[in-house]
Amino acid sequence: MGTEISEGCIFCRLIADPAVETLDRDDDVVALADINPQAPAHFLVVPRRHVETISALDDDRLLGRIFSMAHRLAAGRGLADSGYRLVFNQGPNAGQTVYHVHLHVLGGRQLTWPPG
Ligand code: AMP
Ligand code: ZN
Repeated sequence: MGTEISEGCIFCRLIADPAVETLDRDDDVVALADINPQAPAHFLVVPRRHVETISALDDDRLLGRIFSMAHRLAAGRGLADSGYRLVFNQGPNAGQTVYHVHLHVLGGRQLTWPPG
């Protein structure tokens, strides 16, 4: 169910780099600002363990930690009342580009639906 670290994975490299600024972190999960934000608030909640896709993440406890960090960060940035969107892109049709699980947290503007 995933290795600890994968050679050549950008998120594994960021997580392991003490110079990279994180928005939040615990023993299992790290939150990073998205380098190409699609909304005024756009951050990524990333498990430390290298798992390629959300469909392969068979660990309820870790899933819970990902979601609770996302909600905590959103609330800390004043998004709790205005709202925010949580997105896992799974595979090619969803446009997944980084194959290390990450939960997008998007907010700070009115988001459209359906997504593109
Ligand atoms: P996805 O398309 O769901 O795989 O999302 C990958 C996300 O990772 C995109 O929103 C990218 O902007 C973001 N990203 C890629 N490289 C970095 C990086 N070095 N630091 C922060 N975010 C990144
Ligand atoms: Zn990785």
